[in-house]
Amino acid sequence: MSKIRVLADHVANQIAAGEVVERPASVAKELVENSIDAGATRITIEIEAGGRRLLKVSDDGEGMVRDDAILAFERHATSKIRVSDDLIAIGTLGFRGEALASIASVAKVELTTSTEEATAATRVAIEGGRMRDVKDAAHPRGTTIVVRDLFFNVPARRKFLRAEATETFHLTNLVTHYALAHPEISFVFVNNGREVVRAVPAKDLRERAYQIFGEEFLENLLVVDGGDSQIARITGFVSAPRDRRTSRDSQYLFVNRRFVRDRMIGRSLSEGYRSILPHGVYPAALLFIDTPLEEVDVNVHPAKTEVRFRRQAAVADAVREAVRNALASAGYVQPEPQIVQSPPPQTAAAAVASSPPQPRIEFVPLPSGEEIARDIEEMIRSSSVKSVSPLPPIDSAEKLTSAVTPETLSSNIHPLGQLEESFIIATDDEGLLLIDQHVAHERVLFDKYRGLESERRTESQQLLVPETFDLTPAQAAVFDQLVPELEVYGFELMRLSGRTVAIRAVPADLPAGEARNMLFELLETVDAEKKNNARETLRDEIAASLACHAAIKVNMPLAPEKMRWLIDRLLQTSSPTTCPHGRPVILRLKMKDILKGFHRI
Ligand code: ADP
Ligand code: MG
Repeated sequence: MSKIRVLADHVANQIAAGEVVERPASVAKELVENSIDAGATRITIEIEAGGRRLLKVSDDGEGMVRDDAILAFERHATSKIRVSDDLIAIGTLGFRGEALASIASVAKVELTTSTEEATAATRVAIEGGRMRDVKDAAHPRGTTIVVRDLFFNVPARRKFLRAEATETFHLTNLVTHYALAHPEISFVFVNNGREVVRAVPAKDLRERAYQIFGEEFLENLLVVDGGDSQIARITGFVSAPRDRRTSRDSQYLFVNRRFVRDRMIGRSLSEGYRSILPHGVYPAALLFIDTPLEEVDVNVHPAKTEVRFRRQAAVADAVREAVRNALASAGYVQPEPQIVQSPPPQTAAAAVASSPPQPRIEFVPLPSGEEIARDIEEMIRSSSVKSVSPLPPIDSAEKLTSAVTPETLSSNIHPLGQLEESFIIATDDEGLLLIDQHVAHERVLFDKYRGLESERRTESQQLLVPETFDLTPAQAAVFDQLVPELEVYGFELMRLSGRTVAIRAVPADLPAGEARNMLFELLETVDAEKKNNARETLRDEIAASLACHAAIKVNMPLAPEKMRWLIDRLLQTSSPTTCPHGRPVILRLKMKDILKGFHRI
C-alpha cells in the first residue's frame, strides 16, 4: 500500500503557520503590513492579554470586495504578485499570500471589510482554518481583523508563549518600528484598554521619532545621509559615541521601509564606529536603506525579516561610509579616506596636449568584478594600515603578563604611580602589578552596594532639581518592573505624566549626572525577556551598573593616598581580581620574567 499522501489544506496551513506565526507580535506584523499595503492612512492596533486573547487591527485602506475577503484566507492567495517575474521587484510588504491562511489556521479570526463602492461590508468568520460564516455587516471603507485565542488548537505552540509582559513588549516594539518606517500613517496602539502609542501623521522621520521617543532622544542623534540611489541610499539617525548600549535592541533597520534584522547591516554600522566604540557596545540607530527594488531579494524567509542584497559588499560599504561621515561631520572621527580617487583635474590645454592623435586600441582584459572587489579591499587595507600609528604587537602584554589569581594576591602591595592616568603601577612580593583603576573601583563599589542592599541600609542623596527624562514605549514596560528594585539601592523615581520620569534621589556615590545614563543602560539591558529572572540576578545587574557609573574613570590622575585607599579596599572585596563584568582587575609581570627578559637568568 502506498504511504505518501498530500496533506489536507488546514494541516498544510498549520505547518506554514509555524514559520509565519511565532507569537502575537508576528501576527500583528502581518496584519499591519497588509494595512500598509492597502494604502491605509490610519492604523489602530488593540491587544488584550499580550495579544493571546485578542489582537485587533483596523485600517482605512482600500478594503476588499466579498469574493476577495473569502479568497484572502486561501493559501497562496494574493493580489500583490501574479507571475514569477514579479518576484524580481517586490514593491509591497506582503507577496507570499500565506499570512492570513496561516493565522486563520491557528486562531479564531473575524474579518470585516468594505471598499469605497460597496453598499454593504462583508464579515467573514473563520476558526482553526474552517470557514464558519459570511454575512453582511457595517464597516466604513477599510478592514478590521480580530484575531482571538491564538493557538487555541495548537497546545504545543501555546506553551511557548511567554508571560503577557514579554509578548506586550514585542508588540510594542513592532508598532514602534512600523510607526517609524511610515511617518505619514497615523498609528494608535491600545493595550488592555489603555492607549500606549498615539502618533498622528508626521511630516518626516524626525517629527515621528520625536512623537515616539521624545525630545531628548532626538537631541543626541546625528543625521545620516549618504549612499547613492543606484546601490543604496542610507538615511536616518545614529547615536553619538557617548550614548552606548549593550545590545542591538536600539537599532532599527529598514530596507525599502521594511523592518529587517540583518547581521550584515548591523556589522557595517558597528564598523562605522570602529575605534570609537569598543567591542560589545552598540550605538542606537534608525537607519533606512533604500535600494532599487531589483537590487534586493525579500523572499528569503517566510516572515520576511531577512533580505539578501544583490551587491552585498557595496551596500555594506555604503552603510559604513554614511555612518562614518555622520560621525565625522559631528567631529567624532576623521572623514573616511576616499577609496575611489577621481582623476586629477586637468587644464584644457594639458588635456589636448596629452590626448593621443589617434585612438589607440589596447587589448587589456577588463578586470572581473571579483578582481575589482579584491583591489578595493586591498586599497582599504593598505590605507587603514597607514592611518594607524605604529603599535607594539597586541599580544606583547599577554605574553609576559598574566591576570592575577586570588591565591597569589598578598596584602603587600605598594603603589608607585600611574600609567596613562588609567592604570596604577604597583609592586608586590612576586613582581610588578598593573591595576585597572576603573574596574578596581567598580569591584569595590559593587560589593559595597550589594552589602548595603542586603543589610537594607542604602544611602541616597536628594537632588535639588529632579532630573526628568522620557521613556520609549518599550522602556516604559520594563521601567515599572525595575522601579522597586532600583529603590532598594536608594533611587527615588517618579512617573510623571505619560512616559516622562523624574529622578528625585540617587544612590550616595553616584554622580547626579550619571544617573540618567545608568538608567538608560539598565532599561536597555534588562529587557522584558529577562523579566522572570531571579530577583538576585536583577539586583546584581543593577549593582554592577551602579558601580560602573559611580567608579573612578580612566584618564583620571589619582593622588598616592587615593591609590593606597583603592588598593586596600579592593583587597577586602569578595573577588579582588575580577570585576563584576568578568574582566581582570590586576595584571602581573613576574620577577622571574623580568629577570629572563634582561637575560639575568
Ligand atoms: P499577502 O499580503 O502576502 O498578499 P496575505 O495572506 O497577507 O497575503 O493577504 C492576502 C490578500 O488579502 C492580500 O494580497 C490582499 O489582497 C488582501 N488583504 C489582506 N489584508 C488586507 C487589508 N487590510 N486591506 C485590504 N486587503 C487586504
Ligand atoms: Mg500580507
